[in-house]
Amino acid sequence: MRKKNINKYNLSFKNLTGEKSLLLKSLNTIGIVFLINLFLFIMIFMGYIISVADDRVEYDVRANKLQLTSMIYVMDENGNFKEYNKAYSSENRIWVDFNNMPNYMKDAIIAIEDKRFYEHNGVDWIRTGGAILNLVVGNRSYGGSSITQQLIKNLTEENEVSITRKIKEIFRAINFEKNFSKDEILEAYLNVVNFGNGCRGVQTAANTYFNKDIKNCSIAECAAIAGITQNPTAYNPLLHPENNQERRETVLSEMLSQGKITQQEYNDAISESQNMIFLRGDDTTDLANIPIKNWYTEVLFNDIIDDLTAKYKISKASAQDILFKQGLKIYCAVDEKAQSIAETVIATDSLMPSDKNLELGYVMMDYDGRVLASIGSRSKKTGNMLFDRANYAKRQAGSCIKPISVYAPAIDIGLYNYASNVKDEPLPNFYGKGKPGPNNWYKSYKGQVPLVWAIQQSANAPAAQVLQELTYQKSFEFLTQKLGLKHLDAEDRTSGGALALGGLHGGVTVREMTAAFQIFGNGGFYNKPYTYFYVLDRNGKVLLDNRDKIGTRAINSQTATIMNRLLRQVIVAGTGKGADIENWEVVGKTGTTNDDKDSWFVGLTPQAVAGIWTGYDSPKRIRETAYAKRIWREIMVRYLNGKTLKTYNFDPNVKEYQYCLSSGKLAVDGACPDTATGYFANNSMPGFCTQHSNVANEDNSSILISEEDFAVNENNFSDYDANAGTQG
Ligand SMILES: [Zn+2]
Repeated sequence: MRKKNINKYNLSFKNLTGEKSLLLKSLNTIGIVFLINLFLFIMIFMGYIISVADDRVEYDVRANKLQLTSMIYVMDENGNFKEYNKAYSSENRIWVDFNNMPNYMKDAIIAIEDKRFYEHNGVDWIRTGGAILNLVVGNRSYGGSSITQQLIKNLTEENEVSITRKIKEIFRAINFEKNFSKDEILEAYLNVVNFGNGCRGVQTAANTYFNKDIKNCSIAECAAIAGITQNPTAYNPLLHPENNQERRETVLSEMLSQGKITQQEYNDAISESQNMIFLRGDDTTDLANIPIKNWYTEVLFNDIIDDLTAKYKISKASAQDILFKQGLKIYCAVDEKAQSIAETVIATDSLMPSDKNLELGYVMMDYDGRVLASIGSRSKKTGNMLFDRANYAKRQAGSCIKPISVYAPAIDIGLYNYASNVKDEPLPNFYGKGKPGPNNWYKSYKGQVPLVWAIQQSANAPAAQVLQELTYQKSFEFLTQKLGLKHLDAEDRTSGGALALGGLHGGVTVREMTAAFQIFGNGGFYNKPYTYFYVLDRNGKVLLDNRDKIGTRAINSQTATIMNRLLRQVIVAGTGKGADIENWEVVGKTGTTNDDKDSWFVGLTPQAVAGIWTGYDSPKRIRETAYAKRIWREIMVRYLNGKTLKTYNFDPNVKEYQYCLSSGKLAVDGACPDTATGYFANNSMPGFCTQHSNVANEDNSSILISEEDFAVNENNFSDYDANAGTQG
């Protein structure tokens, strides 16, 4: 029959016209294409499964039991590491070993959460099938996770409900069970899972809800705790005692029906359950014995926790376990001398504003992002986990933002140079349609001012004009993508008040501002700030590493040099006067916000860059506004004392020339009446002044300096150099 058919086809083939044959051929081709696609699809799907399967949980539950204290080392003056401190946790978490855990507690959890726990290989397929089906039909509620899967969910805290996550979790659970025994997994579960009210683990839960140790809890109490985990809010016994009662009685009947308790035990437990009283226990007693960490150490811990969380995709709580219980070796980046100087200055009343509520945040860094010192408040640190104004307070930047939001990016793309003049006029729609602005502090508009003067005097209208030309978008992208100001938000993106004047909606931290200004001292590179060099686990494996980080270029090196010289003028003759330090060239920018609610100084020396903010926690007018600059200087002077003199590394392609103040072009010797020294990149020189001379007036837009002129100019410049400092 079959054969016959085939013959028939063969016959028909012979009789087909060319056209039809083509049709069949293409059908054939389509079939092949389909098969190839199917094959590719299967390959991709397999690849996907393998990639998901390979996503292990980088968390060693065994290490927690060891309760190993992590050590912090710091670098001494010779570059050798020495012991600095121990890493004490500010959270009280007591690990209870499997053998010290009451059997009722284990039985209660297994009975209610995963009755085949000791039989399956990490995944209860019967329940998982149902759960996946649930997801496929779009039901967001989902159950069916084994104890192992729930543990992994807690360790990684990936809460997204999706099939991908579900598949990932299944593979992780199976892998996990290859590495740890059932008892180890249950032990970890009972110690790390969320039992409501911020309780991690059953010991904390027993303390919190019954004011006793887990080993002294009754069957009914164990059932009450076990009942919480499925929904730590709804079954929280302090918030919803009636829900918890219903749930714990379900737990008890599961225990009974699975033979974990006798009928008599069940009856007793039920009657206890009906009269159960919850006592909010105090589990903070041990915390009193924890030494107070300095501001730096606390930031260090937070950075390590954040970095572990991000790198290993684990929950914050898991990262805390690793930090505080797993015997890490932390090579901290603090400069002990800088930190101690900063702490001393801030503790000296005579150097500080008289109003004790006037707060501050201070950060000092070197030019590769190493945080040398960090201070979160002006008050003496009397506890742990206090609010840190250097690293976490998001404040308005005020005029401090102008160099980074406006001038550096505008010079970098060639819109302006050192000698340029800038419009000093209001923009008609700066604050919205028909709302002109901004005002200058000198309450007038000069029509046109030299760019250097605008920076020096922190003029608002010129900054707004330059921003307008640069575009808001470029400014915003520069700040957020190149300089790491990660809190700026959608409102800031379209606000001239935010970008030109620093009236930010999202805000900036002192650490961020300091890091952003490093580009003016290191040739234009942004390095993310770091508080540790590297971190080893207890076996010596590198967990986190900042040693070989490479900075990213934010502006080109000529721009960095030119900006450095522009900001030097802020100190020489502008709002930063008084911050200068003998023998060291201070470069920087002041910043005040509307109504003097924030006062900033971010400044550079060839050794370090530092930023300081002063203000009130609830913003209000500051009367003592001079302190930011003053405290900054006091700390820096002491820090530089004894350091080898050093100068900035300027780009060799940036040269000093005299320029004409009125035309904003290179000065013509003897012709231009008012000149000053400017700094110009070889490849983007302004032409010669045509206002006072016709030396180069043919077409000075294309070129610049003939060799002859160049020589003349350099001569001028050396003449001038002899008088340096006498001109503004
Ligand atoms: Zn001139």
